[in-house]
Parts: sequence; structure tokens; C-alpha cells
Amino acid sequence: MDQLEAHIRTIPDFPKPGIQFKDITPLVKNPVMLRLAVHQLIHPFVDQKLTAVVGMEARGFIFGSLAAWELGVGFVPLRKPGKLPYDVQSISYDLEYGSAQLEVHIDALGKNDRVLLIDDLIATGGTAAASCELIEKLGAEIAGCSFVIELDFLNGRDKLSKYWVHSLIHY
Ligand code: AMP
Repeated sequence: MDQLEAHIRTIPDFPKPGIQFKDITPLVKNPVMLRLAVHQLIHPFVDQKLTAVVGMEARGFIFGSLAAWELGVGFVPLRKPGKLPYDVQSISYDLEYGSAQLEVHIDALGKNDRVLLIDDLIATGGTAAASCELIEKLGAEIAGCSFVIELDFLNGRDKLSKYWVHSLIHY
């Protein structure tokens, strides 16, 4: 994991003062690190009889679709409002300032699905908790949530106490 961490770049005060932004672009540019990260993200869940991987816009798409490919299952995108063309189920959630929304196609998942949720980073856990709620609104079951980076000091994991949470790098 030290190797992976060496390929994360911290940008202070981006996108606003006080945020230490964890930039995963050096990691995904490196083919060895990219493979390692994807393998580690899925490792605990390979025997979980998954039917799909769900990833959040936008960096969750990078890791999520590669994880789906590697697991031999499909990929379901959760998108920001107004991007999906068909009928959607949506959820609103609170951010530090204001609120945000995520959407999924209503027929993307159902009661026969068992999914792994993947994103690049868990901070406060708001995005992941809302994503889990959205997945469950469609009737699907969540096998676990997997993140490249976890900001431990924000205790985002507490919002996901119902689920199996796995992270590769902790700050
Ligand atoms: P949260 O809902 O607070 O857990 O925030 C998680 C979402 O915001 C993820 O999709 C991350 O990509 C993004 N995010 C939050 N904080 C950071 C950070 N310090 N560096 C990079 N991305 C972040």
C-alpha cells in the first residue's frame, strides 16, 4: 500500500481553501499501480457472488469499470442530475455547504442484484451513504463498499456501519 500511496498527490487548498485534495491521476497513469489498486479493491469481495459493480461520477467510473471487468460483472454508473437519458431514481444528500444529488436508471438494478460500490475516496461518507440508499431503493443488495482512499479523521465509515467497508490507503 506504500507503493500506492507514493502515487497519490496531495494538492493543498483545492478546490477551496482548507481542502487537501487527493489526486489519483498519477496512480491511474501508472499501469502497475492501476492494476494493483483494482486488484486490491476487489480482493475481499471476489467470492461474494456479485452481479454488478456500481461507481459514482466521476472518479468512481475509472476504478469501478475496471473492477467490473476484472470480476466479470457489469458496471452501473451513478450520475449527477440530468445526465442519464432514461427514467431515473434519484437521491439528495447534504454536503458541507448545500446539497447534491445522484441518479441511477430505474432498470439498472433490481432485487436479484448483489453489488459492490466503488469510489476513489471516502471523506464524510455522505456520497457513499446516499449511493447505498439509492441502490437499495432499486431493491438491490450491497455486498460491500470499496475505496482507494479513506480520510479516517472524517469518520465517513460511521455512515456505512451497516456495510462491509474496505479501503486501501488511510490518511
Ligand atoms: P464525501 O461524500 O464527503 O465522503 O466525499 C466523497 C466524494 O468527494 C468522493 O467522490 C471524492 O472523490 C470526493 N472528495 C471528497 N474529499 C476529497 C479529497 N480530499 N480529495 C479528493 N476527492 C475528494
